[in-house]
Amino acid sequence: TVGAVAFDGDGFACCTSTGGVTFKRPGRVGDSPLAGSGGYADGGAACSTTGHGEGITKALLAHRVVWGCGADQTRASKAVDDALDFMKTEIGSQGGAICLTRASYGVGFNTKRMPWCYISFDTETEEEEILVGIEPES
Ligand code: ASP
Repeated sequence: TVGAVAFDGDGFACCTSTGGVTFKRPGRVGDSPLAGSGGYADGGAACSTTGHGEGITKALLAHRVVWGCGADQTRASKAVDDALDFMKTEIGSQGGAICLTRASYGVGFNTKRMPWCYISFDTETEEEEILVGIEPES
């Protein structure tokens, strides 16, 4: 998967691209193109997901993460963790997600690894922050 979430000061966007899973059946539609599964954005948050597509779709993972943020703009990380825990315990699937709100970002995965990168640029101060996560964390 290659996924991204963005906020430009006005609105949120998400995108998710994938080659699918190994040995997939011809005609399989994975989670990535399905709004709410592979990605979801509303007026307060955006999320992109990766992992076992069938489980992600059952969990409606991206929507679950965004919904989990609610009106609290500091909840991105908790929303990601809660949604991934739900998918693992209730559905038996593993995956990962990135999420962005106005005041927080969240990265989580219960797969082996998920490289990620966070870039923030303040147009007023021109301050830039770049964080990169490559090592497996779980
Ligand atoms: N979520 C994708 C699928 O199941 C696989 C991936 O790229 O993580 O099609």
